[in-house]
Amino acid sequence: MMSRPNKPLLQALFALLFALCLAGPGRAASEKSFIQVPDEAEAKTVAVDMGVRAQAVVRLLFVGDIMLDDGPGKAIAAGKDPFADFADEFRAADVRIGNLECPIATSGQPLANKIFTFRASPAVIDTLSGRFDALSVANNHSGDYGREAFLETLTLLDMAGIKPFGGGRNLSEAHAPYWVEKGGLKIAVLAYNEFKPRAFEAGPDWAGVAWSEDTHVLRDIQAARAAGADIVIPFMHWGWERERVPSERQKQLARLMIDNGADAVVGGHPHVTQGSDLYKGKPIIYSLGNFVFDGFELPAAREGWLLQMTVSSDGVRDWKLIPAYMDGEGLPRKLPPVPVAPAPASVPSTADIVSAPAPTPAATR
Ligand SMILES: [Zn+2]
Repeated sequence: MMSRPNKPLLQALFALLFALCLAGPGRAASEKSFIQVPDEAEAKTVAVDMGVRAQAVVRLLFVGDIMLDDGPGKAIAAGKDPFADFADEFRAADVRIGNLECPIATSGQPLANKIFTFRASPAVIDTLSGRFDALSVANNHSGDYGREAFLETLTLLDMAGIKPFGGGRNLSEAHAPYWVEKGGLKIAVLAYNEFKPRAFEAGPDWAGVAWSEDTHVLRDIQAARAAGADIVIPFMHWGWERERVPSERQKQLARLMIDNGADAVVGGHPHVTQGSDLYKGKPIIYSLGNFVFDGFELPAAREGWLLQMTVSSDGVRDWKLIPAYMDGEGLPRKLPPVPVAPAPASVPSTADIVSAPAPTPAATR
């Protein structure tokens, strides 16, 4: 008799107990709070992210061509630190980027049809480690000793915690941006080479560099934007060697890249600096020139620029160029070399003639 009126009550009690067991101790308060708390937390996270994002400022440092064979290679083997003069600038930057103008390897053979071929010893990795976050390999020398040496270079850089970009083990890796994420800000840096030989371009399943083909470059910039990049910077290897002004080709492509979403364009390869432009309020630094390189008679090729660039979600906030002067070993110095006073005229002895240095070949590098 008692059972009939109590059955629904008992069922309700069991249902409540069952629900409490399922919910667990932390969720027993109420269904309402269980739903609302994550929503509130999520709203706070978004608000914090937006706040950080609006304020996030990332300091980038770009340097030009780094060739660590020949004079610089010998100086490093003798215990010198090529980057010592600019240690403060490297320390002050959040992200340090350069163009590695040589393979770093023990493998491979020099390409037979090239006048200048470079290959640095793996011992140089220690001087790059801790100084650079990423190095572009999109240039006309990273393939100097063939694909095996190129792959060895990628592996050595990866092991040292330096991200190689503008080249890779296949086409898609070569075209992938170097991504930086700091304080909620997403930066994509892309790199391309357009100075021959093109034979060293990456393919669907073979290693090499990213080639500067307009349609592909623009597609990569747009893809980086679609992937959430707040800032996109192409780092180009282009222009005519020893030309102090940019070519029409450089100007046209730089503008096209900005029209398609680039926030700044940075370049190198001509071995000299080439000035800068503003297009739609966005900077184009056509050529940073050399940074670590020897073997140039031309005085302008012994001067390069470091580029300090501050970016935020609004784009490039400010930028500054710092001159670097390469010494006799091709290492960058803060101060220009002191001019040597001409020696008093005298009749050279036979010993002087015998020890006179051989002239440097004038062929292009
Ligand atoms: Zn080059």
